Amino acid sequence: MSPRDRLTEMHPEMTAWRRDFHAHPEIGFEEHRTSGIVAAKLAEWGIEVHRGLGGTGVVGVIRGNKSAGGGNRAIGLRADMDALPMEEANDFAHRSSNPGRMHGCGHDGHTTMLLGAARYLAETRDFSGTVHLIFQPAEEGLAGAKAMLEDGLFERFPCDAVYGIHNSPDLPLGTVKALTGTALAAIDYFSVVLRGRSAHGAHPHQGIDAVAIAAAVVNVLNTLPSRHVDALESAIVSIGQIHGGTSDIVLPETVELRGSVRTLKPEVRDRVEELFHRAVTHTAAAQGGTAEIAYRRAYPATINTPHEADRAALAAAAVVGAENVIRAGDPLLAGEDFAFMLERAPGAYILFGQRGAERGGTPVHNPLYDFNDDLLPLGAAYLAGVVEQELA
Ligand SMILES: [Zn+2]
Ligand SMILES: [Zn+2]
Repeated sequence: MSPRDRLTEMHPEMTAWRRDFHAHPEIGFEEHRTSGIVAAKLAEWGIEVHRGLGGTGVVGVIRGNKSAGGGNRAIGLRADMDALPMEEANDFAHRSSNPGRMHGCGHDGHTTMLLGAARYLAETRDFSGTVHLIFQPAEEGLAGAKAMLEDGLFERFPCDAVYGIHNSPDLPLGTVKALTGTALAAIDYFSVVLRGRSAHGAHPHQGIDAVAIAAAVVNVLNTLPSRHVDALESAIVSIGQIHGGTSDIVLPETVELRGSVRTLKPEVRDRVEELFHRAVTHTAAAQGGTAEIAYRRAYPATINTPHEADRAALAAAAVVGAENVIRAGDPLLAGEDFAFMLERAPGAYILFGQRGAERGGTPVHNPLYDFNDDLLPLGAAYLAGVVEQELA
């Protein structure tokens, strides 16, 4: 039986697993119930299970039965398990039962698709070599992939290539986007504390106005990409928070700015960080103030290696048809911690459309979002198909 047929047969069960995960969301590094269910199912299907990588991470190992082909290659398939700290606004039966927690990015579906693929692969083992099923914690901002790598993921479970997928409400169900090169942006975070000297609102000249410094810094940061980075490259500096002051008639001692920087190329990322420090420090100094900058590199850009992107596209075409696999287009300025795995191994991260006629079109991170269960057999068949194709 082909992966597609077997996984279509498994669709009702996968839907039940997915809705159970959806109803019991857990945020980054707290995926105790979720990872417990994952580990139990893998064990039930006769798959070797390793727990505790990166906290709640789980790795399943399946060895193929086809030894003829040389058989010592290994590939990794990765799914993320975490939910978001947000309130769900849906009212269907499988809505979140945990207040302030929601599967708002579809990781419940990603976990389920990898489980479906795992079960099929454990039943058939129609490949040579080894598959490492990587169920990672904390994709949403907490770098669970990095935590697993620091716990020796690729030393203990070496992978010749790694493959990851994400659902996309922007693309129709049955469509896949598999880009070569940069697929997603690097994301960095900053906090800047601008320090002046407090003064009476009537006598600003007796102090140093931290609010005026903040206004100047906002302007200089907004022009930083447009005036200092090639217009054909991508860079965004977004200030998401400004905090300062307690009174209408007192100039505050400090004002804090917080925000994020997104870039697509490592050299642009380095350049923007350098320019950021220079611009903020000198703008504050020009008005007699100082700046304390905390600049944190979060996720690198997600960069697909050419060979693996081609192979992923081929495996996706076997499921949705070659005419439905998009190979050219713009990367997204969102980020993904699968990027850390792609820094260490060749691989590809591709998007599976989930927008159907009636559901699946609500954007991720929206309180009305839900993963479209119609995608389950497609994504799972892709993951299983990559294994049979790459480890033939
Ligand atoms: Zn997300
Ligand atoms: Zn996500």
